[in-house]
Amino acid sequence: MDKDISYGNDYKFIPATSIGNGLGIEVLPDLYCYTIQIVNIVLVGNPKNNDFVLVDAGMPHSANEIMDVIEDRFGRNSRPKAIILTHGHFDHVGAVIELVKEWQVPVYAHELEIPYLTGKESYPNPDASVEGGMVAKMSPMFPNEPINLGNHVETLPSDGSVPHMPDLRWIHTPGHAPGHVSFFREKDRALIAGDAFVTVKQDFLYKVFTQELEINGPPRYLTTDWQAAWESVKKLEALKPSVAITGHGVPISGETLTDSLQKLVQNFEQIAIPDYGKYVDKRKH
Ligand SMILES: [Zn+2]
Ligand SMILES: [Zn+2]
Repeated sequence: MDKDISYGNDYKFIPATSIGNGLGIEVLPDLYCYTIQIVNIVLVGNPKNNDFVLVDAGMPHSANEIMDVIEDRFGRNSRPKAIILTHGHFDHVGAVIELVKEWQVPVYAHELEIPYLTGKESYPNPDASVEGGMVAKMSPMFPNEPINLGNHVETLPSDGSVPHMPDLRWIHTPGHAPGHVSFFREKDRALIAGDAFVTVKQDFLYKVFTQELEINGPPRYLTTDWQAAWESVKKLEALKPSVAITGHGVPISGETLTDSLQKLVQNFEQIAIPDYGKYVDKRKH
């Protein structure tokens, strides 16, 4: 079975980094955010009871680092109950094949992401022409061919529940990717937003490097449906989260989160939607 699971042919190390690289932040006692180069992984679960899941699987070639982070937090030979994906872009599944081989745990994703995770469909080519900075320009080198997790990947339950994490529910937040999901916990209003919105201007290399806090819509070069992306941000804002971990950038909480999410919803066209690019049609807005 394992011999059938693999990355796409264009899988490779991407030389991009930020000052957050290698930094772990305990956002809440059972919510830990760790930055792999330029992307965040999240460990949900309290280290006291060893019952946890991994949300997203980092950059290509980061499996050893992820296993080290987990050993440091949960102890030797710890493994999550499952890997849960916000979506299947290369920077969120970069180590998933090695991790599944090592841990033999299931991966869960929204049903609309399954074709990109089972070798059936490639993501659209990144838009290097989109209005934006250097990261957009380097985006043609990003892997977009599908990985193949075979029958190791399962569809998230349709009732909104999250396997092994009874307090969490998943919310469909498409736009950046068709089956993009975010995770929300009612009791403390904690949100794992994935790339539905981010707290760094991801298109700009300098800002990615410094991780300067700046709430923004999803990374532009990979977002194909801006209207849906806007609706998704509205959905998340309506939940009034108290703290949010995003796929890129630093965690954000309290008034800063409330205010900037509101601002993003109200000014999504100016803040998030690029002025030009192949997936942009401003006439529709
Ligand atoms: Zn993405
Ligand atoms: Zn991303």
